[in-house]
Amino acid sequence: MIIKLTKGTTTDQVNHIVKIFENLGMEVKDASGKEYGVLGIIGDTSKLSVRDIEAIEGVEKVTRIQEPFKKANKKMQEESTIVDVNGIKIGEGTFTIMSGPCSVESRDQILEVARSVKKSGAQILRGGAYKPRTSPYAFQGMELEGLELLKEARKETGMPIVTEIMSVDLVERFAREVDIIQVGARNMQNFDLLKALGKIDKPILLKRGLSATIEEWLMSAEYIMAGGNEKVILCERGIRTYEKFTRNTLDLSAVLAVKKLSHLPVIVDPSHATGKRWMVKKLAMAAAAVGADGLMIEVHNDPENALCDGAQSLRPEQFEDLVIDVKKILEVVNKKM
Ligand code: PEP
Ligand code: MN
Repeated sequence: MIIKLTKGTTTDQVNHIVKIFENLGMEVKDASGKEYGVLGIIGDTSKLSVRDIEAIEGVEKVTRIQEPFKKANKKMQEESTIVDVNGIKIGEGTFTIMSGPCSVESRDQILEVARSVKKSGAQILRGGAYKPRTSPYAFQGMELEGLELLKEARKETGMPIVTEIMSVDLVERFAREVDIIQVGARNMQNFDLLKALGKIDKPILLKRGLSATIEEWLMSAEYIMAGGNEKVILCERGIRTYEKFTRNTLDLSAVLAVKKLSHLPVIVDPSHATGKRWMVKKLAMAAAAVGADGLMIEVHNDPENALCDGAQSLRPEQFEDLVIDVKKILEVVNKKM
């Protein structure tokens, strides 16, 4: 950590700052130049808050050298994490497609979509049983009944299931019954939920928050990992910007950033990123080209009548076409599904 001191800081103030860090067991090196006083802090500063240090009299600016996340940090673990989901390996070198409807709506719907996405090449079945909706009057999901239907679809197709958790109360049940537990964008900073998920041994799909920075997202992964659960898969699903044409703005550069900063797998969800069916395939291909470890794609057998996110849901034949074209990109980047 580097501390730039305010011009005209007195010796007493500097000594006071030095003492604060020495009392915390850190070494302080004077690296002052002609114009400004500069202190280099050596030691583990990850628990310190930049904002708190900048509040100390005489401190003008604090720059971190070390990232605040540790377990998720590539510097702490060079080899890429591969998350094993019932034998399906998610991470560097492979490509995994999770697909299915936004929400489980009926037995026929989930079974029909599951069969079709499996046939097209999806490895994991998605489907929301608990839906985080902006309006309390909108369809909230089939809840436990939806979970049972997902389990039935898993039994029939053999595909592992991923579904979103919204409440700490359901952690134990999801840990027993679900193959990947999804934390939605709206819950990315639900720290109680993240802590509870840190205590179980189950892969977690952590979506990027609506307005989360990459560092905040990785800090949320850190919450889960700090508890002992290191099976975290990140999912870029678009962030909120001033652009209104698309539902969100897909940040594909985040894939590269995460790959540079972390050893965790990262997949891309172009469905929620755009909100538009016709954009999904091209951005899925772009995600594969940029080095994502997989995709999450919404598919519905009757999108016009979907209870949630119909406008961004592909029809089964469009999904089949997407997989064919994504495979072409995978050949170029030397990856296999
Ligand atoms: C979803 O995947 O169903 C979902 C609600 O996505 P997000 O949390 O990214 O909005
Ligand atoms: Mn959705």
